[in-house]
Amino acid sequence: MTDALVIEGCAIATVDAAGTEHADGHVVIEDGRIVAVGEGAAPQSTPPARRIDGRGCLATPGLVNCHHHLYQWATRGYAQQSTLFEWLVALYPVWQHIDAATVDAAARAGLAALARSGCTTSTDHHYIFPARAGDLLEVEIAAARAIGLRFHPCRGAMDLGRSQGGLPPDDVVEDRDAILAASAEAIDRFHDPAPGAMVRIALAPTSPFSVTGELMRETAELARARGVRLHTHLAETADEEVFCLERFGVRPLEYVESLGWLGDDVWLAHCVHLNADEAARMGATGTGVAHCPTSNGRLGAGIAPVPALLRAGAPVGLGVDGAASNECGELVDELRAALVLARVAHGPAALTARDALELATRHGARCLGREDELGHLSPGALADIALWELDEPGFAGIADPVAALAFGPTRPVHTLLVGGRAVVDGGELRTADPVILAADLARESARLAP
Ligand SMILES: [Zn+2]
Repeated sequence: MTDALVIEGCAIATVDAAGTEHADGHVVIEDGRIVAVGEGAAPQSTPPARRIDGRGCLATPGLVNCHHHLYQWATRGYAQQSTLFEWLVALYPVWQHIDAATVDAAARAGLAALARSGCTTSTDHHYIFPARAGDLLEVEIAAARAIGLRFHPCRGAMDLGRSQGGLPPDDVVEDRDAILAASAEAIDRFHDPAPGAMVRIALAPTSPFSVTGELMRETAELARARGVRLHTHLAETADEEVFCLERFGVRPLEYVESLGWLGDDVWLAHCVHLNADEAARMGATGTGVAHCPTSNGRLGAGIAPVPALLRAGAPVGLGVDGAASNECGELVDELRAALVLARVAHGPAALTARDALELATRHGARCLGREDELGHLSPGALADIALWELDEPGFAGIADPVAALAFGPTRPVHTLLVGGRAVVDGGELRTADPVILAADLARESARLAP
């Protein structure tokens, strides 16, 4: 057993099932897990190796990022006024030149941004594997290990090129058998099903307009045989709905359901264009949503019906989406964007500050199948904790700390613990040098620029 770590003197939003909060509380951590959470000072029976003075701070569960494309950190600022399809057509020719150096620089920069914005667990959806580009999945897993975040990378794929009626050019798609073999290999090499895992794999054909139905169906069979989760983009734009109606004769959700793609082992990015029956179907099947409000705003796609999805019982996590459609990529921003955009669409009672925090934590953990040990501060849960400093002028005078975090200005997290290890401390990233990250990212971005 390692020595205990104690956080004291802070407000605590545990985001447990009962919504327990403490105005001035403590968290005790041993061996990477939380052993006690409560009001007042920590029990004196625990001699801590380190005591964190949390006065002026709010402790929350570490945020969970449910959708990302880390490689896109090297291709930001393109196609600024484009729809999703226009933006993809502009970017595919740039993306076909990515390689291991691109993914390494982009993933480190992107994961560092996530860490500084309170994220302790992130997924990534990587779906472009140019020939001779190197082992891109291994590269991004190494980057996550270096930055120190829990990581759920998806082995993505595209097999429906333009000549077959898909959107991507033929030279960025892969052969279906090669994709399935690479997916099985990714599970064999990297997936850790054990409690407390730092890396778990999911399988993720990219979208209805870039993959075949055969790949979707066979990927679902493989994932279920191997006990890993499924992820894809769905119902992001009106253009996708037209594509599905013209090509398959059904709307996007009905299409993926026919391929075995609804269930509590599936989470879908976006789900903007769902009608009331489809939102209910998501809840009834326990299918998760990765809600990406800033990306949806950036591409003018619309906004997901989050209140209806929550009423239906669907898990709704938050995602930054790829940094080419969200040039920021900081997760705490999505908490605020989810809050204000739900209210633009549905009025001021649509989502509360606490609802938004729950999406960013417990719901995100459900999307990734980790709700038993992530997304809440409870005895037995992993010690993935964000400590937000709220006594500076940007927040001073807001009596409700959760409202201050959700409605207030964006600031880097003060302290970020992943399994009890400090990845951010005193507002500074402890696992990488931001100057080197920025230089590497600028070099790779310049190399890819057309
Ligand atoms: Zn995406």
